[in-house]
Amino acid sequence: MKFRAVLSMVALLAGAGTAVATPAAADPEPVTAADMAIADACYTWGRTLSEGASGEDVRQLQIRVAGYPGYGGVLGLDGEFGPGTKAAVTRFQQAYGLGADGIAGPATFSKIYELQDNDCTPVDFSYDELNNCNSDWSGGNVSAATARANALVSMWKLQAMRHAMGDRPIDVNGGFRSVACNNAVGGSATSRHLYGDAVDLGAGPQGFCALAQKARDHGFNEILGPGYPGHNDHVHVAHKSSRFWSAPSCGIGARPRADEVPVDY
Ligand SMILES: [Zn+2]
Repeated sequence: MKFRAVLSMVALLAGAGTAVATPAAADPEPVTAADMAIADACYTWGRTLSEGASGEDVRQLQIRVAGYPGYGGVLGLDGEFGPGTKAAVTRFQQAYGLGADGIAGPATFSKIYELQDNDCTPVDFSYDELNNCNSDWSGGNVSAATARANALVSMWKLQAMRHAMGDRPIDVNGGFRSVACNNAVGGSATSRHLYGDAVDLGAGPQGFCALAQKARDHGFNEILGPGYPGHNDHVHVAHKSSRFWSAPSCGIGARPRADEVPVDY
């Protein structure tokens, strides 16, 4: 298993902003030469994953399919392969024309390898794009490592959304903010930008309303867009523990009362 050990080292060295690989579980399916050939410097799965599996490899899979929870859903990134993960894997497989059985095997991993860069970001998004505040992700409401990891999950959600909207570029205007950056732009003290998972989108070729509407299918619990105070010129998508969607000019949510303070910018 020498080659396997080397791959593990590569995963460890890559760091990747998220937790690193843990040793494979007791009885993994053997890794074939073909699997190894397509592995990249980010992360290499060493076994087929299906409902009932658990571990860091499941969590790594969950991050990659976080954009496929179904309308209004948010996939838990808990390392437990339950029905929600199976449904997300199935939607991912359908989106890319793979056999849709909800089991992540070589074909699914191969597609993921194709979609990710060596730093684990999806090919069409980058850490730099999601942070025009500073270079080290420090100074927010969470540790730099957590902010960066949160941004990674948002990028995978955006990658799913981008693909669902015809693979046209999505215009990212910013993401993570330190407290200082947030104060400088007058952001709320509870802004998800302080946690790294908020992303502000420009109109791009899709248009604001199409983006806000589509975000509902791809794991974003917070969506703010046209008609919501301060959001006529961008769409804000983020994670949040409970759902808050408001883009009244796009038919999403109620128009806030005049006395309501925007929860975020
Ligand atoms: Zn925002």
